[in-house]
Amino acid sequence: MADDEGRRGEAKALIEAASTRGEMKRLGAQLDHDHALRLAVWKEGRRRGADLPDDALTWPGKRLLRKSRAREAASQVRTTPTARDEAFTCSHCGEEVVPAQRTARDHCPRCLHSLHVDRVPGDRAAGCGGLLVPVDAERRGDGFRIRYRCAVCGEERANKALLEVVDPDDWEALVALTAAAGDRPSR
Ligand SMILES: [Zn+2]
Ligand SMILES: [Zn+2]
Repeated sequence: MADDEGRRGEAKALIEAASTRGEMKRLGAQLDHDHALRLAVWKEGRRRGADLPDDALTWPGKRLLRKSRAREAASQVRTTPTARDEAFTCSHCGEEVVPAQRTARDHCPRCLHSLHVDRVPGDRAAGCGGLLVPVDAERRGDGFRIRYRCAVCGEERANKALLEVVDPDDWEALVALTAAAGDRPSR
């Protein structure tokens, strides 16, 4: 067995064992003295979908453990477009998407796909995690509204197209969608 895998198993066991405040403190102190193990916990926490930034490697072990345990259900969220404005990797086309900056981006500007992770925008309360497939788009005021259907649970929802932002939605892809809805955009 590779040393890495051994470390990973150790990290997993540690994260699971830290189920009480006392254990978290005790095991956290152990991490404070073992950099290799701390790195393994950080990797494992990220793999589980915990919100661990790069500098989490410098956190006290106790905090690293607590954060590594958090939000197992959010494991799909790592590669997810969300209503929060943050960078993500599109899980449909692989595009590295940058923050929109003027508003929250909740779908990929290239392929327009999104993920079913929110009940209301930004809450990430929908455990579904399915791919939200754009089915058509229609004019709404001076913009466009993209309609989605979840590939897993079938729920339908709509998102606003983002045109006046950093890295705006792909115009050709939008036009193709509005054509699907029988609406003809002009520009
Ligand atoms: Zn995409
Ligand atoms: Zn769904």
